[in-house]
Amino acid sequence: MAYIEPAPIKDRANPFESMMSRFNIAAEALGLDEQIYNVLKSPSKQVSVSLPITMDDGSIKVFEGHRVVHSNILGPSKGGVRYAMDVHLDEVKALAAWMTWKCAVVDIPYGGAKGGIKCNPREMSAGEMERLTRAYTQAMLDVFGPDRDIPAPDMGTGPREMAWMMDEYSRAHGTTVNSMVTGKPLVLGGSLGRAEATGRGVMVSALASMEKSRINPYHATIAVQGFGNVGSFAALLLEERGCTVVAVSDITGAYYNEKGINIHEAIKYRDTNNGTLEGFDGADKMDDPEELLFLEVDVLVPAAVEDVINQNNVEKIRAKMIVEGANGPTSAEADNIINSKGILVAPDILANAGGVTVSYFEWVQNRLGYKWTRERVNRRSDRIMKDAFDKVYETSQKHSCPLRIAAYIVAIDKVAETYKFRGGF
Ligand code: NAD
Repeated sequence: MAYIEPAPIKDRANPFESMMSRFNIAAEALGLDEQIYNVLKSPSKQVSVSLPITMDDGSIKVFEGHRVVHSNILGPSKGGVRYAMDVHLDEVKALAAWMTWKCAVVDIPYGGAKGGIKCNPREMSAGEMERLTRAYTQAMLDVFGPDRDIPAPDMGTGPREMAWMMDEYSRAHGTTVNSMVTGKPLVLGGSLGRAEATGRGVMVSALASMEKSRINPYHATIAVQGFGNVGSFAALLLEERGCTVVAVSDITGAYYNEKGINIHEAIKYRDTNNGTLEGFDGADKMDDPEELLFLEVDVLVPAAVEDVINQNNVEKIRAKMIVEGANGPTSAEADNIINSKGILVAPDILANAGGVTVSYFEWVQNRLGYKWTRERVNRRSDRIMKDAFDKVYETSQKHSCPLRIAAYIVAIDKVAETYKFRGGF
């Protein structure tokens, strides 16, 4: 069946609608049975809790927390926990579904979930964060578990919070259960290669996209928006493979050097400069940071936040391809224009799945009680990413549709097929 244009969405789509508009196109292309469609579109479990926490000044503050399990058809559900002021249930639901499709695209035996607590981690002390994280874990004892639902870091959380979650869960069970969470510190069973895993998957997807478009990486120019975990590793690894990274940006602005930015130097600078590129002299600061998105480069890597490519600016995009490091950097309304311009997009659920792939390896290693070398982790995750890319590419050829819809088709088909075998009530 041919690719169908998505319906325009008025105003700014909420993330759940944005995800569903792509899901609907893929479901139709696949000829998905209506009953299965209804099963797959609804989250299987939503838990919302109130968490009263004693703050350092003795006052009691009540925080709102959520965990949404979208699907456990392929296996235990997997997904990060976000600490941010704008956490709301609709967003958590969308992100949980995204995780289902992401795990299915890279063919790892996980369903999808996501969690969140409405809080401002920057305003909280370490003690307050610890009490909040432990309270959330206690409240989710019946949801979490290495064979049920496995949390991980997301915005506002990291190895520290994962260690508290593992400890709280382990205390409640009277035994150390390090496989109940991923993204842990190395000493607690974290995996080598996890830190760079998402950026590495972006690099593999970018090289595969260049190969399909017959672009020689040694002649390719790259612009990367966001210079955090995903963006900086993607930039570094692409540079190591011969590409010229002409622009990078972070919250302080965008930095351009026509001859190529030395990414090693930029990372070194960021790490000794409060985590930002402000004042970096290896490139010129651009007047308007948004201009980075409109550079005439071979590959644009949005690796910062959602909806940066949207109906207001999509016409100005001149990159030959977009490799989505961030989750949801392109709004659903912008898809049509990008496709009509012939820009190849390696979509988020494919391109940034290197992180969840190595999280899966962390869980596997914990369950084996064994530690793999970095080389083994990298080799296996590169293979998974490349196989997933090839499968999505073939599907896009078969259905004459963009890679984004093809990725949803691969994912939905896999989950639907598994559901049919497992059956329901
Ligand atoms: P991070 O916090 O490490 O880095 C974010 C970077 O983006 C920072 O450099 C920040 O300064 C910059 N930034 C923020 N707002 C910006 C803006 N408006 N313009 C330009 N730069 C801006 O986060 P991360 O872990 O690198 O995650 C980035 C994106 O990738 C998010 O969408 C996240 O959901 C997604 N993602 C991350 C992982 C992972 O393993 N870390 C996995 C999959 C997807």
